[in-house]
Amino acid sequence: MTERRSNIRKTFAERFGSAEGIKFSRAPGRVNLIGEHTDYNEGFVLPIAIDRDMIAGFRPNGSKMVNLYAMEMNEAASFSLSDPKTDPAHPWMSYAVGVARVLTEYGHELKGIDAVLQSTVPVGSGLSSSAAFLVSIAKAYCDAAGIDIERKALARMCQEAEIRYVGANVGIMDQYTALHGERDACIFLDCRSIEHETVPFTTDVVKVVVADTTIRHEIAAGEYNKRRATCEKGVELLKQHLPEIKSLRDVTPEDMTDLAGSLPEVVRRRVRHVVTENMRVKLAVEALRHHNFIHFGIYMEASHESLSKDYEVSCKELDVMVEIALGLKGTYGSRMTGGGFGGCTVSLVPAENADEFCKQLAAQYEERTSLKPNVYVCATAPGAEIIPDRGAAFPGC
Ligand code: ADP
Ligand code: MG
Repeated sequence: MTERRSNIRKTFAERFGSAEGIKFSRAPGRVNLIGEHTDYNEGFVLPIAIDRDMIAGFRPNGSKMVNLYAMEMNEAASFSLSDPKTDPAHPWMSYAVGVARVLTEYGHELKGIDAVLQSTVPVGSGLSSSAAFLVSIAKAYCDAAGIDIERKALARMCQEAEIRYVGANVGIMDQYTALHGERDACIFLDCRSIEHETVPFTTDVVKVVVADTTIRHEIAAGEYNKRRATCEKGVELLKQHLPEIKSLRDVTPEDMTDLAGSLPEVVRRRVRHVVTENMRVKLAVEALRHHNFIHFGIYMEASHESLSKDYEVSCKELDVMVEIALGLKGTYGSRMTGGGFGGCTVSLVPAENADEFCKQLAAQYEERTSLKPNVYVCATAPGAEIIPDRGAAFPGC
């Protein structure tokens, strides 16, 4: 057993008497390589599940109580499955409560568990620590109660939990990736059909580097809702010419050439981003299938440009981070990833340049902004799984 699971086991024994018979449920965070603000327009995204994850050590306790201990928070919290309620003193509980409520609402009878939660996904940096939490606790509930829920359905339930019980209006990408991720593959997800294809992608040759600007802008949530509304407006206006469209996913670059002039200026730019971004995801997938990282990088750069100029969801620090990355030796591509207004960039660099890239990126960013960024090299990882107490798992877990 790895040191990490030994520590969880030890903490479990301290908290709950013994660790006899515990199991572990693991769920990864993710990073989206390309396809931003396309999910709610029923378009395409291309995330990878990463080698940072939440592991929950859990065991049924024969009652209706869920007793949790979150190691990073150093906080314990409990609730009853008969009446799952959050406690404002522990906001993180709402993820576990939300999943329990949604599973119950779908007719599943859950059993009480004791669980220790431990995560290597940085909280709130855009690598989706929230989905790692939702999915690992969902897998733990299901295993403890002997329930088998198909992965796509479970992803939807976790998404529903986050929307309804955490209050975050999220798409399905994060939960879906936490469940369907694969080692050495990207998940090319169609956000309309909620079906994916895996695209081979080995992080031995090329490294994925995530750099957190450390900037968080308060306006992000409000602006996100505004962008969604503008996209709906775009659909409404374009429907006058294209009555068959249901979302911006149905608008082609050719349609834009014909109809862009009929849209008000801001709507036109927002629509243009979504239409071209969907196209870029498809082109990036083709490039990846041919191991053409140079082309892949060009689409990443164009994606950033479009997010910054047309969609206006970047910020000074994201632009600076991307600019520095693109100036470093060997960089294939770089762009903001996530909703924007702060958060992270993702860059693709040749493996042999990765160490120097990380060093230079951090140093030059600090020089220009006086902020210390967090830089993470991420590898692909498999999706959520249950690991028996002494069973083998994904390396490092
Ligand atoms: P992100 O998903 O980008 O990391 P979110 O704001 O969506 O950021 O989710 C972060 C929240 O998820 C935290 O504030 C906390 O409530 C919960 N969370 C994430 N990781 C943990 C953890 N290890 N232990 C307890 N709660 C966690
Ligand atoms: Mg999140």
